[in-house]
Amino acid sequence: MNHGKCAACMVAKKICFEPDGKGPAFCSTALYGAALAKAAAEYEKPDIREFARQAGVQEAECYVDREAEPHYMFPVKPRIQEMIDFSRKMGYRRLGLAFCGGLHREAAIVSRILEDHGFEVVSAVCKVGGVGKEALGIKPEEKIRIGCHESMCNPVAQAEIMNEAGTDFNILLGLCVGHDSLFIKYSRAMVSVFAVKDRVLGHNPLAAIYTYDSYYQRFKGDRLKELTIKE
Ligand code: SF4
Repeated sequence: MNHGKCAACMVAKKICFEPDGKGPAFCSTALYGAALAKAAAEYEKPDIREFARQAGVQEAECYVDREAEPHYMFPVKPRIQEMIDFSRKMGYRRLGLAFCGGLHREAAIVSRILEDHGFEVVSAVCKVGGVGKEALGIKPEEKIRIGCHESMCNPVAQAEIMNEAGTDFNILLGLCVGHDSLFIKYSRAMVSVFAVKDRVLGHNPLAAIYTYDSYYQRFKGDRLKELTIKE
């Protein structure tokens, strides 16, 4: 069976964007009828429907001049504004901010902005609890500073703190790959990501993608070999 490969789709007029569009052989719209039906049933649940509806309204409101002809995209809301506006739309009062200790200063500013816009903010740093990495079976040589005490990142505790505080919506700021996954799994409230961590690229992982053809050619792997042989 073909698997969906939307990422490889080069169809100009796509069926997922336009009702009279088309899809390739690996089209996810064509291949996954059951999944699409399952999703449609989920949107019938009132809370999911309202969340999705507000997210859709918010999506459009991120642009101005929407009535202009010819149409052009004029986005105006940075993500922090999007977070504030969406939270207001949903009637949220108490927001959770789960952040990485490496972004403590940024977390302080995000928290201040949210509070200045009328929200109550519950925040928890990744190292909350101060539990040594030994608790996870991590060996001395597997630590950043070999042999020293290092508190484990504790995303499950971050999530449980938000659950106990009864946050309406949880915002992630800079959690590591995997730690973010655990937070999302254990969070009772819906989660959105304000920013992801990238230790090398100033928390902008897309920089490596934008420079894939130049400074990050090493990610081409075997494709790079083919290119080199051709040259
Ligand atoms: S759903 Fe089909 S048409 Fe749309 S991007 Fe995926 S493969 Fe292409």
